[in-house]
Amino acid sequence: MTYRFWCGECGFKTPWGPESEAERGHMDHYATRHPGLRLGGQVETAAKAPAGEGTSCAGCATVAVLGLLLLIIVSACGR
Ligand SMILES: [Zn+2]
Repeated sequence: MTYRFWCGECGFKTPWGPESEAERGHMDHYATRHPGLRLGGQVETAAKAPAGEGTSCAGCATVAVLGLLLLIIVSACGR
């Protein structure tokens, strides 16, 4: 599960990440951009960050799957 927080005061959205990380980014944003205001906005959750968004390595999962496939092929051919 990945999370991102939407600012209630402006169009800011934190990068996708673990809940604690997204929450910290949200609080940091409020502290720097909206000091004195109570935290607002909303949280968005997703099973995983959409490709091309956030700080997570979108290509890592693909690389891991390809590596696994290669291992299976190599072990199958080695027999
Ligand atoms: Zn804001």
